[in-house]
Amino acid sequence: MNLDPQTTSRPGAISIRGLGKRYGTGMFAMRGVDLEIAPGELVALVGASGCGKSTVLRLLAGFETATEGSIHVDARPVAAPSPERGVVFQDYGLFPWLTVRENVAYGLKQRRLPRVEVAARADEFIGLVGLTRFATSFPQELSGGMQQRVAIARVLANRPAVLLMDEPFGALDALTREQLQNELAQIRRSVGTTILFVTHSIEEAVYLADRVVVMAGGVSHGVPGQVRAVVDVPLGQERDTTAPEFNALEREISGLVHRGLDRAA
Ligand code: ADP
Ligand code: MG
Repeated sequence: MNLDPQTTSRPGAISIRGLGKRYGTGMFAMRGVDLEIAPGELVALVGASGCGKSTVLRLLAGFETATEGSIHVDARPVAAPSPERGVVFQDYGLFPWLTVRENVAYGLKQRRLPRVEVAARADEFIGLVGLTRFATSFPQELSGGMQQRVAIARVLANRPAVLLMDEPFGALDALTREQLQNELAQIRRSVGTTILFVTHSIEEAVYLADRVVVMAGGVSHGVPGQVRAVVDVPLGQERDTTAPEFNALEREISGLVHRGLDRAA
């Protein structure tokens, strides 16, 4: 078979144009957001509370509809939630009455995939997050980090083109958080999904991302949330949080986050 790379490019291209969201009749929570994300790219979204990070993510997920502008994934407009766009929140959102395997299999069963395929995929992704030994455990028997791994396996089992994560490691202790960051970096290399990752932590953003989008403003600052800057992270796969070039990027982004606030205040 002669596959033309032009026509068989990977899925997961995100195109956001002039995106704005107004709740009720108030001010726009977020407005004028333009962002192009390439297939397989990991983009972190940072910025102070209330600048509209979660709003962008919810619109991409299809949980809410935009007031203006557009979102396309692989040239198709986003109109509703889809297993093509997996979402992971800070609170794991597992079904407490289902085992790890049943949690991961749940969405696949809903989609009426053949039973053999449901079982195979559930086990594949439970293995990917290192929980094979816990497949028959219930969520309350697991640590927070393990529960978040289950949540990640559950969305990845759908083989999504896009993974949307809203402060996914925000509730975890520092050590577990570092562990999951490393696992996410590995998972990302093996599945190649496009990832949009919202975080409060500039260090986490620089550690994981190819690009960091800095948002600023927000209703409480009297201006709609908006993109203040987009910073490339030209660091390799193995990142050292103590390296001078790492710290220089952290300082640059931190400056942008705070400058954004001052201007908008
Ligand atoms: P972030 O995730 O950056 O902290 P959000 O996207 O959650 O910010 O919120 C952006 C703005 O939108 C905030 O001013 C918030 O109060 C407002 N907002 C978010 N969700 C709603 C909602 N459902 N109804 C009204 N206002 C909302
Ligand atoms: Mg938020």
